[in-house]
Amino acid sequence: MARGKTKKGPTALTPKEIEILRWVQEGKTNDEIGVIIGKSVWTSKYHLKSIMKKLNVTSRAQAVSQAIGMGMLPSPKPAVAEEFGPMMSVGIVGCGRGGTAVLNLFRENPSVKVEWTADRNPSAPGIIIAREAGIPTAEDYRFFLDRKVDVVINLTGSTKIAEDLRRSIPASTELMGGVSAKIMWQMFEERRKRAEEREKLLKEHEALYHLGLVVESIDSVNAAGYAIIDYATKLTDTPAGSIALFDEKREDMMLVASKGFSADFKKVARWNIRDGGLTHTVVNHEGPLFIPDMREFSKPNPVLLKEGVRTLLAAPLTMEGRIVGVLYVNDFKKRRFRAEDISLFSLLTIYAGLTMERVKALEETRLLSITDGLTGLYNQRFLMEQLQKEIQGAARHNYILSLIMLDIDSFKEYNDTFGHLEGNKILKSIARLLKKNTRMTDTVGRFGGEEFCIIMPQIKKEGAHAFGRRLIGEIEKYPMPNRTVTLSGGVATFPTDGKNHLSLLRKADARLYRAKREGRNRICS
Ligand code: GH3
Ligand code: MG
Ligand code: MG
Repeated sequence: MARGKTKKGPTALTPKEIEILRWVQEGKTNDEIGVIIGKSVWTSKYHLKSIMKKLNVTSRAQAVSQAIGMGMLPSPKPAVAEEFGPMMSVGIVGCGRGGTAVLNLFRENPSVKVEWTADRNPSAPGIIIAREAGIPTAEDYRFFLDRKVDVVINLTGSTKIAEDLRRSIPASTELMGGVSAKIMWQMFEERRKRAEEREKLLKEHEALYHLGLVVESIDSVNAAGYAIIDYATKLTDTPAGSIALFDEKREDMMLVASKGFSADFKKVARWNIRDGGLTHTVVNHEGPLFIPDMREFSKPNPVLLKEGVRTLLAAPLTMEGRIVGVLYVNDFKKRRFRAEDISLFSLLTIYAGLTMERVKALEETRLLSITDGLTGLYNQRFLMEQLQKEIQGAARHNYILSLIMLDIDSFKEYNDTFGHLEGNKILKSIARLLKKNTRMTDTVGRFGGEEFCIIMPQIKKEGAHAFGRRLIGEIEKYPMPNRTVTLSGGVATFPTDGKNHLSLLRKADARLYRAKREGRNRICS
């Protein structure tokens, strides 16, 4: 095999050679490299020759690119000057508010290099930032005057310093100060503020997203209303707000939740939509309605004025184009809102509309499942559950509870005589009378057919008996269609008549039948 002069592949460099080549890469001359390594220019030339031989190249530039290709040198970063135009070097005098703003901006800007900063106060905010960024700092700017920079920016506002700088810096260095510097840093400040606002907006959107997660798990109109008001008032930084839903059946507005108002405000639970009134205006307004001062609003709203409301921001809640309610936020002083907050408020109303409709539907379904279609009273299933709960509460807090079972007398005969539909009217009338005559804390239900049940917490047997007698007396006197209707009833009391709901119900039932046996239209206990 012929042993010809084959070209040898490039071989690896020693660490020292790599170091030398890096200086070549940085653009240093042989002379400079000699100085760095503390040897003569010949030594650096000798090293370079050996490097080129090892890399199989004939020039310094080729050596660098070969070494980069072999991974011995980092690939060069594009020179800043090429990407961003010529690099500008600056010195900053005065590191207070203005200096800090300028410094922060320059730090983000690769075409500007801050060579030094100076401030009389060694703990001026800008000085601290500069120190952290590794920028040389001094208390006296004169310390830096021999360092050549393109621009010296005087942010001290002192004419004395401006004059001194003008005298001391070379003619080729530009001096910026006074109004021009002020305009510059104010522009920077403005930019920073805008960035901050964008950040805030982003956070608020995030909060809206979290509200979504919270509301997702809420299943009552009330709770959803409170969550939305809470968010809306926080978003707009207002002390008060309310949410009202449109009642399609009654064609009026119903207050669902409010915050920051007096007890009187909450008493106005429903109101009609008057032509030209506040609700009418909100609903017919394109986008959110902003009233800077209620006192100057053409159709003042007496309820809000009485509460001391000055500023109002409101928007209708819509769902598939239908208006389902109105969301309001209020302030007791005159104020404005940021455009971003108003737009977020709009976003919130879309969201609130969807949520309220969803929750309302849920509540309606639940209500349907626990009430009786004919009378609107609670059904037997709910009554049983409620009775168990009430008994548990009574046992825990050691109080008495009474139960009344009622049954219409000779109702079969009534039906047979006047017809089933007439019978239904009686059931409805009795349901209304029962509701009207019981307390908020009582639970009234239709136990079945023509039987009703009343759960009365904290009522003793005698009290329940007296109440039952009065009640059937009222019903007997009530002008029912066709003829008088009477009921019989049986009372049972916890804990004396039974310790659980079943034994109590049995006892009440037994007494009800005793009342029937004893001649009807009476209460037994
Ligand atoms: P008593 O005084 O002993 O209670 O006699 P009664 O006729 O009321 O008793 P019974 O239990 O024999 O009859 C109950 C009647 O109630 C039978 C039924 O026609 C009537 N009823 C049950 N549910 C309804 C209803 O939803 N509508 C109407 N119209 N009648 C009902
Ligand atoms: Mg009956
Ligand atoms: Mg019966």
